[in-house]
Amino acid sequence: MSWNRVRGHDAALSTFRTTITRGRLGQAYLFIGPDGTGKRLFARELAKAVLCEHPPGPLDACDHCPACAQVEAGTHPDVFALRTPEGKHELPVDEMRAFCTQMSLKATRGHRKIGIVEDADDFNAESANSFLKTLEEPPPGSMLILLATSTDRQLPTILSRCQVVRFSPLGPADLRAVLVDNGVEEPSQLDRLVRLGAGSPAAALTLNDDSFWRVRQYLIEGLTTPRPNFSALAETWQRFYEEAGKETSAQRLRVSLVIRFLIDAVQQALRLSVGAATSGLDGAEDARLRDFAARLGTERLLELVDACVEADSNVERRVQLILIVESVLEQFTRPTGAAQ
Ligand SMILES: [Zn+2]
Repeated sequence: MSWNRVRGHDAALSTFRTTITRGRLGQAYLFIGPDGTGKRLFARELAKAVLCEHPPGPLDACDHCPACAQVEAGTHPDVFALRTPEGKHELPVDEMRAFCTQMSLKATRGHRKIGIVEDADDFNAESANSFLKTLEEPPPGSMLILLATSTDRQLPTILSRCQVVRFSPLGPADLRAVLVDNGVEEPSQLDRLVRLGAGSPAAALTLNDDSFWRVRQYLIEGLTTPRPNFSALAETWQRFYEEAGKETSAQRLRVSLVIRFLIDAVQQALRLSVGAATSGLDGAEDARLRDFAARLGTERLLELVDACVEADSNVERRVQLILIVESVLEQFTRPTGAAQ
């Protein structure tokens, strides 16, 4: 049934149910919450519920009618999604204009048009400007949903015209339920993914993928050898985030997860260097990190942690991903003893 896949956002759902029961569905919503918490899934379920041809209840979708099937497949003629194109870091004004034109046309299939701006953090002055008219005077029967990570990134003109809906990271029980929904069964794997996923279903599901662990192992091995191969490492890491597809938030998540695991590895190396206990290292990894720590020394290791933390915040700041990857790898591959 509809909404079954949405976990941990009951408050938002019940607000929408009340709103629609009273016939007061708004025309512009801004979903705010960290990447990977389920904003996009929620927006799609909302679109489905609004456009369903035989809704079994207020804000419920039947999941069987043609409209439901089309929303699910991303082919409904009255649902438009706009995202930042691959390799770009801003919503281009041309695509924004095309999106606004589509929104201004009459609904083809149903009674409503729904426009989802998936990367509302990425407006530039021009695309925000061209969007403003649509936002100020939404075409009749239209609904706009903007997905963003924080209100700080929104222009006041956009923020003031949207109803804000908050999406928090999921609690452990909800995250576990999402993982079970996605076929994770083994209890110890569930525990591990709930712990490492830190409230993000997208992160937990990425970590459930063997390819992540292969990349992690390759990078940690490659970076802790005496002479790391910069270009091979960069290529592997780049391929890994590009495999996430065109969605920039999914690519960012992959870069960020790798950085977090590099931070963990360096912190383990630091613990080894001062004789403290480590956790979860196998024998080979233990030996490798011990050697790495001895070669670099505490000060360099601390610099690496700082560099990684900085790089992770650059992911959030939408710095171009390949530049972040290269900057992290440069820090690791800088010859020991060389000046910064
Ligand atoms: Zn339906």
